[in-house]
This record gives sequence, C-alpha cells and structure tokens, in this order.
Amino acid sequence: MSVLEKLTSEDAIALEEKYGAHNYHPLPVVLTKGKGVYVWDVEGKQYYDFLSAYSAVNQGHCHPKIIGAMLEQAQTLTLTSRAFYNDMLGKFEKYATETFGFDKMLPMNTGAEAVETALKLCRKWAYEKKGVEENKAKIVVCENNFHGRTTTIISFSNDPVARKNFGPYTNGFIKIEYDNIKALEEVLESDATIAGFLVEPIQGEAGVYVPSEGYLAKAKALCKKYNVLFIADEVQTGIARTGKLLATCGNCSCIDKHCSKTPEVKPDILILGKAISGGAYPISGVFANNAIMEVIQPGNHGSTFGGNPIAAAVGMAALEVVKEEKLAENATDLGKLFRAELNAFIPTCNIVTKVRGKGLLNAILINDTEESSTAWDICMALKENGLLAKPTHGNIIRFAPPLVMTKEQLLDCVAIIIKTLKQFDEEIK
Ligand SMILES: *Cc1c(COP(=O)(O)O)cnc(C)c1O
Repeated sequence: MSVLEKLTSEDAIALEEKYGAHNYHPLPVVLTKGKGVYVWDVEGKQYYDFLSAYSAVNQGHCHPKIIGAMLEQAQTLTLTSRAFYNDMLGKFEKYATETFGFDKMLPMNTGAEAVETALKLCRKWAYEKKGVEENKAKIVVCENNFHGRTTTIISFSNDPVARKNFGPYTNGFIKIEYDNIKALEEVLESDATIAGFLVEPIQGEAGVYVPSEGYLAKAKALCKKYNVLFIADEVQTGIARTGKLLATCGNCSCIDKHCSKTPEVKPDILILGKAISGGAYPISGVFANNAIMEVIQPGNHGSTFGGNPIAAAVGMAALEVVKEEKLAENATDLGKLFRAELNAFIPTCNIVTKVRGKGLLNAILINDTEESSTAWDICMALKENGLLAKPTHGNIIRFAPPLVMTKEQLLDCVAIIIKTLKQFDEEIK
C-alpha cells in the first residue's frame, strides 16, 4: 500500500484500529482536507468544524498567511537545536512577549510540556526567591482540571480514566474546588510552603465551566497577598477564543497588547499552546517577567525542538492573523449571537437544559444522565447534518468553531444544531 493510495473512510479507520494504539475514541469521520471553517472527509462530504482541534485552529484551517510563513521557513532552515542561535527565535520571542505583556518567554512544543515547564519554574522560584525549604514546595490546583497527559500532570488530575494504573504519582500538589475563593484563601493561609496556584480561566475539558464573575481577580489578589504565583493555563482559552486575546484579560476591548488596565488578573506565569500556531505546528510557550524567569539557567530545562525556526515563523504569523483579522472581537460578537439563538430555542425543547460559555468557547448540557449515549448520538447526527462536534464529559457537548467564521455561517450552523436537537427532542416526547 503506497502512502498516495486513496482510502475510503472504512479503510482508514480499519488501519488505525489495527496498527494504532487505542488511546482515543474518535467520531467515525475521516478528514482529508480543511479550509477556514470547513473540513472535508475522504468521500468529499463537507462539514463545519465545531471543535477546531480543541481550539488550536482558531485562525481557521490552512490559513494562507500561516502556511506561507511555514513553507518559506521550511525551505530555509528548520532546526538548529538551541546549541546554536537561530535568526528567527529572538524575533518571535520579542513579538510574543510584547503581544502578551511579559518580559520573557520560554518556548516549548506541546501544551503539556508548557505546563510542566511552568511547574518547574514555579518550584525553582519558590526555593530561590520565596525561600521555601528544599523539596517542600506545593502547588495548588483545582478539581476537574485538565492540564495534559504527562506523569506529573495526571498525578493531580481527578479523572480516574486518566490516572488509574499510572502511579506512583508526583507529590507536592493540593487540590481545591474550582471557583471557590474561600477554599483558596483557606489553603493559602494554612500553608507557607505553597508556591503557586495553577488554574484554567475557564475549565474547557471539564465541560466549559465559566467561573463566577470576579473569581480570577480575587484569586490573583490572594496569590499576591500570600506571595504565591498565579499560573494561568490558557492553552485552550487563550488567543482570542473567549473573546479577548486572553481569558485573563479584563473586560476592555484591547487586543493588541495584554490589557494593562486590569493588572489584577494578569498571571505571574502564563501558559499558551494550541492556537499560538493556528494549528499548523506544535508550539507552546511559558511567559513570565524577569524576576521569575531569571531562575532558569543553562541546563535547567530545554527541548530539542522548542523554539525552532519553523515554530518561530509560524507563531509570529499566527499571532499576526489574530490581530489583523480582529478574531477576539469576532469571537465576542458571534459568541453572543450563538448563545442568544440557543437560549431562544432551549425553553421550547426538552433535550437541552443550558448553554454556557464565553466568546466562541461554549457548551450545551443535554437532558440525560452522564452515562447515557445521548450526547454521542447527537454528535453522530450533527455529523450527518454537516457539523462536527464531540461530547466533553458524558452529557456535555462543546461548540468551538474557528474564529474566522462569518455571521452568516454561524447562523447556518445554529440552524443545523437546532434541527438536529429537534430530532432528539421528538424521541424524548
Ligand atoms: C489541551 C490542553 C493542554 C495540553 O495540551 P497538549 O498540547 O495536548 O499537550 C493543557 N491545558 C489545557 C487547558 C488544554 O486544553
């Protein structure tokens, strides 16, 4: 079988089934092409992509500017390792740190690696700056978090499927309830060895849980009071997804610079991944100011591919697209429209109880048990009707289309979603 041979969906699925580890449970659709908000399967059927590779493809599939930058750099220089300098990395670091308002960036490849980097940075800061006794530093995390799949990260997950039989686990983490400011205050007050608080501004994988108004600002203020680093994992919420360049930005509409008007929510350590490349390449990064980042010295941390020239070219282009095409503003406007349309439909049906989210990171709650297959069945029907989405947890379906969508396209998608939900509504009645 040559790599150029055309496969049917059935063949492609059978190959993965036989030769690939079964670490995912994909919707049975085999994609071969993407452009903007659309993807096509191998039989030529067109779909709206309502997952955007978990918010990595915010700029739309195969954005010409991003792909152009990638192709040009790929023909010039791909990888030097960090044993030598390259003439692209510094430019990317300058552009990215100015965009997000930090002194320095540490480039990595995947989201999980960036989270690991942030945890190491936080621990080292605790020993060298805060004066925590060696090996005693703790990091506070939230219940139902999702920060990736490494051994340390799953050590503080409470998802049994992600954790079970992967022990022994990494120590040094304290789990508290999400969106509970009192729980944070109690733990910070009780333990002077706490070095950081790691939090998702909106819990995406858990089912798009938006915390109460003011939670992040209060959490940041508490961290400041107790000399604890506020670490924001914006791998999914960042890069315009929630209607602002970052979900930790304030309510003003600036998108060019990190919002200096609301420094109270600005993280001490910011973690980005996914859409920092527009889905073209694995790129992630950790951002912090000098007083924190300076604890990292040669040999402390690194990655062969982290900060490679292609990543630098792609990352810069991807961030430029976000600004040039005003994707944050579009996400705000379309998100409001999306929730308004669904909120108008919900009282007329039994199948959906709620829509929630921010910008174009939204979810609907299906009126059935967590164990039921209803959300999965709805996603299968959405696929038949030309729209791809996936359940997050049991009865929750996340809707996160590329941010380059037009109003007309969004209304078309709303019509598909409502038509599909009505099919299931009739089954309930
Ligand atoms: C996807 C995600 C990660 C992990 O990123 P990978 O690139 O899959 O390693 C970490 N944190 C959050 C919030 C995510 O959504």
